[in-house]
Amino acid sequence: MIDLIGFDADDTLWENEQYYTRAREEFRALIGTHLITGGRPEGAPADLDDLIEATERRNLRYYGFGVMSFVLSLIETAVEVTGGGINSGDIGRLLAIAKRMISAEVELFDQVEDILADLYGSWPLVLITKGDLLHQQAKVDRSGLSRYFAAIEVVADKTPEVYAAILQRQGVAPERFVMVGNSMRSDILPVVDLGGLGVYVPNAGTWVYENVDPPAEANGRILHARTLADVPEVIRGLGMER
Ligand SMILES: [Mg+2]
Repeated sequence: MIDLIGFDADDTLWENEQYYTRAREEFRALIGTHLITGGRPEGAPADLDDLIEATERRNLRYYGFGVMSFVLSLIETAVEVTGGGINSGDIGRLLAIAKRMISAEVELFDQVEDILADLYGSWPLVLITKGDLLHQQAKVDRSGLSRYFAAIEVVADKTPEVYAAILQRQGVAPERFVMVGNSMRSDILPVVDLGGLGVYVPNAGTWVYENVDPPAEANGRILHARTLADVPEVIRGLGMER
């Protein structure tokens, strides 16, 4: 039996990574000019994505996840690759990208509301999302989906300990919890670690950080949905209808 279904939000219910992809493109265009005019050909624009990625991962322990962390990493990368030559106008442009990302409309994936309404009739649902508190809360508000969730949890990271604390607050044993999400690393493996189930919904745009190969012993507790629309059927296929 399942007593509670958890949903990830970013790139599970709505678009997210595409905003980061576009910001990286703009960063390449901006910094590429500096590399040419600044005479630093060794930092070719093609390598910039790898440099940003390395800076982001290095900074997670300081800033966590989300747009603010991302833009600080862009600025740090810009300072590095231009040898300190980035000017305040361009730093202002990077900050403007962050504000645009934070203010962007929420673009729901197809049929999200129908899928949640369907499951909501059978199980309590919780939304569990990691990132900047203010931004994540604003996206939930703009999504218009909050009424489907018994609880909305914005967390700094998605570790087994964080999931355990949420389940304790909900009074639900991990074995009776299933988590739906696009990140094997953040949505599926920590829950499987606790003894719960994961429904993995792949998304082509998922940040590479979130893609990890599950260990063989986890496979029995990971269900695969081709798309979000398949999630109700996958969960009901467990024979856990109620
Ligand atoms: Mg996600």
